[in-house]
Amino acid sequence: MKCPECGETMKSRREGAYRYKGAGLPNVVLSGVEVRECPSCSEREVVIPRIEELHRVIASAIITKRPRLTADEVRFLRKVLGLSGVDFAARVGVDPATVSRWENGHDAIGPQADRLLRLMVAVTPPKTDYALEDLAEIEDVAKPVRLRVEAQSRGWLAAVA
Ligand SMILES: [Zn+2]
Repeated sequence: MKCPECGETMKSRREGAYRYKGAGLPNVVLSGVEVRECPSCSEREVVIPRIEELHRVIASAIITKRPRLTADEVRFLRKVLGLSGVDFAARVGVDPATVSRWENGHDAIGPQADRLLRLMVAVTPPKTDYALEDLAEIEDVAKPVRLRVEAQSRGWLAAVA
């Protein structure tokens, strides 16, 4: 690997503790990532492989923590879901301005929205038949669901009547 600045061959080593800023979170440290340094100039590169998977792993850790989500975590998890602020607001049932206040730290996310966001991350993508865009369609009027649950050889099968 040549230095992009001076063309010298860069030296590679494994970093024991690299503070990762790419998630926008203050306390994420990666262990064992490759760091390339140029012996001639000060050029330094850090190789972060499979970033999408990394962000998934970070997200999975965040949603299992006990304290309420921080503003940075709300923004990070919303981005992991691939949602804009407007789309996320529609799914949670709040104004886009409310999402902005959660993400800039002006207001704390409420306990229900906190849980909903965690749940949205938890069900995406392992349970791919759970359509998150349906959350934007939830109505204000309450009405009990009508279900038919059928015992099949492979398990229960529910169908909305
Ligand atoms: Zn160099």
